[in-house]
Order: sequence, then C-alpha cells, then structure tokens
Amino acid sequence: MKTAREQVDSFGVERHEASVTDVAEGDEGGFVVSTEDGEHAADYVVLATGAKRDLAESLGCAFDGDLVDVGVTMETSVENAYATGAMVRAEEWQAVISAGDGAAAALNILSKEKGERYHDFDVPADAQAVFGGMNK
Ligand SMILES: Cc1cc2nc3c(=O)[nH]c(=O)nc-3n(C[C@H](O)[C@H](O)[C@H](O)COP(=O)(O)OP(=O)(O)OC[C@H]3O[C@@H](n4cnc5c(N)ncnc54)[C@H](O)[C@@H]3O)c2cc1C
Repeated sequence: MKTAREQVDSFGVERHEASVTDVAEGDEGGFVVSTEDGEHAADYVVLATGAKRDLAESLGCAFDGDLVDVGVTMETSVENAYATGAMVRAEEWQAVISAGDGAAAALNILSKEKGERYHDFDVPADAQAVFGGMNK
C-alpha cells in the first residue's frame, strides 16, 4: 500500500485518508463523499469497503441478493459509481481479484474520460522506477 500510495502521489493527485460516512449523488451531477473530516466532490466513486455494503446501499446501487450488482467494468446501476472486491462476490474472494476489480473500474473511467477504449500499460522502465528501490 505504501508503494501504491507513493505512485499515486507521484502523479500529483489530491489524496485524502479518512473514514467515509456517506456517499450521495450531487444536486448538479457527480457525487458528494462525506467523511469524518468533511465533504469532497467527486465525478466518479469506486467503492472498495470489502464485505461492508452499506455505502452502496445508501447510494441506491442495485443489488443481486446480498451482492452489489455489477458487470465486468464494475460499474453499478448508479452511473459513474463502481463497486469492487468482496462486496460484489459471494465468498470467492482473493486480494488479487479485488485489485483487478479496481483496475477494471479505473480503465472504464479512463475510457469514459478519453471518449474511446483505453488501456494503460507500464513498460519495464516504469516498473524499475517504482519498484527498483525495493530490491536494495
Ligand atoms: C483470515 C483471512 C485470510 C485470508 N488470506 C488470503 C490470502 O492468503 N490470499 C488472498 O488473496 N486473500 C486472502 N484473504 C481474502 C482477502 O483478504 C480478501 O479477498 C480481500 O481483502 C478483499 O479485498 P477488498 O478490497 O474487497 O476488501 P478489504 O480488504 O476488506 O478492504 C476494505 C477496506 O475498506 C476499509 N473501509 C471499510 N469501510 C470504510 C469506510 N466507511 N471508509 C473508509 N474505509 C473503509 C476497511 O478498513 C478496509 O481497509 C483472506 C481473508 C481472511 C479473512
């Protein structure tokens, strides 16, 4: 997680770490993410709270039984809201599957932003830049 956060920070993102208390659709589109530290506006949300499905439920996402209903892009019935990992699966969970769900959501968001199908491949030099120091 430390490496992932460092990689995200290297892109200059505004990153907040806080417990989310609510996610709601905004009056003028997008979402309002409420946290213990205040509210944040978002164009997209990716829910990744494991088997806890309360935020998906209060946001109004459709369920298939106990599971948040998603397709292969991980988008829920609420446009631009994605659900990943344990909340969309019945017990057949693994860390790599949850990470893959997040990647599927991210690529779908990037495709929407670009207006065309998009993939994002690193080359060995990119991996060396991020992970090279871990060998020392
Ligand atoms: C004992 C045990 C052993 C396991 N061993 C393996 C293994 O060897 N290999 C393997 O691949 N998988 C293993 N798993 C399964 C693996 O842990 C899960 O498949 C995986 O963690 C699910 O990932 P996730 O992202 O969906 O949810 P989680 O990993 O549960 O992550 C959810 C995160 O969301 C946070 N969160 C929840 N609510 C909020 C909120 N309101 N605001 C902010 N943050 C919130 C939680 O604190 C947590 O950090 C094991 C599970 C268990 C219980």
